[in-house]
Amino acid sequence: MSRAFNFSAGPAALPEAVLVRARDELLDWHGTGASIVELSHRGPEFMQVAADTEANLRTLLSIPDSHAVLFTAGGATTQQALMALNFATPGQAVDFVVSGHWSKVAMKQAAPYVDVRIAASSEAGGFRDVPSRDEWKLSPDAAYVHVTANETIHGVEFRDIPVVGNAPLFADFSSSIASGPLDVSKFGLIYAGAQKNLGPVGVGVVIVRRDLLERVGQPRANIFNYASQVASDSMLNTPPTWNWYLLGLNVKWMLGEGGVAEFARRSERKSNALYAAIDGSGGFYRNEVAANARSRMNVPFFLPDAELDARFVAESRAAGMIGLKGHKAVGGIRASLYNAVPVEAVDALVGFMRDFQQRHG
Ligand code: PMP
Repeated sequence: MSRAFNFSAGPAALPEAVLVRARDELLDWHGTGASIVELSHRGPEFMQVAADTEANLRTLLSIPDSHAVLFTAGGATTQQALMALNFATPGQAVDFVVSGHWSKVAMKQAAPYVDVRIAASSEAGGFRDVPSRDEWKLSPDAAYVHVTANETIHGVEFRDIPVVGNAPLFADFSSSIASGPLDVSKFGLIYAGAQKNLGPVGVGVVIVRRDLLERVGQPRANIFNYASQVASDSMLNTPPTWNWYLLGLNVKWMLGEGGVAEFARRSERKSNALYAAIDGSGGFYRNEVAANARSRMNVPFFLPDAELDARFVAESRAAGMIGLKGHKAVGGIRASLYNAVPVEAVDALVGFMRDFQQRHG
């Protein structure tokens, strides 16, 4: 068996060590005679998995006590609707900074419940930059300000945390969480679907400032109430135990590798190597994102025409590299360089790109 270098945008690569451990524990978890997913979520075994996972995630991300952590069954899109219901009154203003596709999805999910306001947008420029902070028009009465820390499709990333004033900052970190040190205390809420940097699809993480949980929000069922979820340790109903467990293994792996400081170093190294290959290709490969907003996680690029894009995808697959086809909204190629993607994978990709250009350039 040989595993490919996997550049998929999500669901994405998991560390081989995590998969091997999950395989080894699958039939008999720690001498219980059953797999962890065959045991009650309320039993001591899974309760331990859940508690360890939260503790390790708090260590990994330096999450302060001021913030609660939720493990959610819904992914990032679900949270985009729930945060409007939990933290804004009906029709209250919410400011959105629009830096790509997922910022627009966040607005769409909130739109039935709040007054969606676009504080700034880089759409007119084709999402090749993040809107500069001095251009944002924030509403004085906004329930929160929403940003997408890393745009997975357009490959643009906020490299610094913007200061937003009174309204709390809510941020979608689905595709860049745990890729570097972050001051969590600056955020009202951070959320992420797990299927990129945290683990498998089917579970999400919400990190929320506890005082915000006292907001009345809007009429909603208990199951959609973050405060109730926090009070019940994310177990108001049966949680996705397998996904939660795998996420826990992955968080432990990231700690063992040196934590977010180490992943920041690796991310710089990987993304710098790839952008250098693109920029040094004499225009054969193109990435048009502004240098200071280029994502370290998702690198979209284009060849001279769509036929070459398709050929690149096919030949790279034959060379043992998968997941490189660009998102249908933008086309081209996209290489996702999440934490589980080793430096060697990027070195292999860069070598392949050089070789491909020689043959087809
Ligand atoms: N936000 C971002 C930045 C994403 O990349 C994605 C998924 N690719 C989503 C939100 C949607 O996540 P989910 O599929 O978990 O709802």
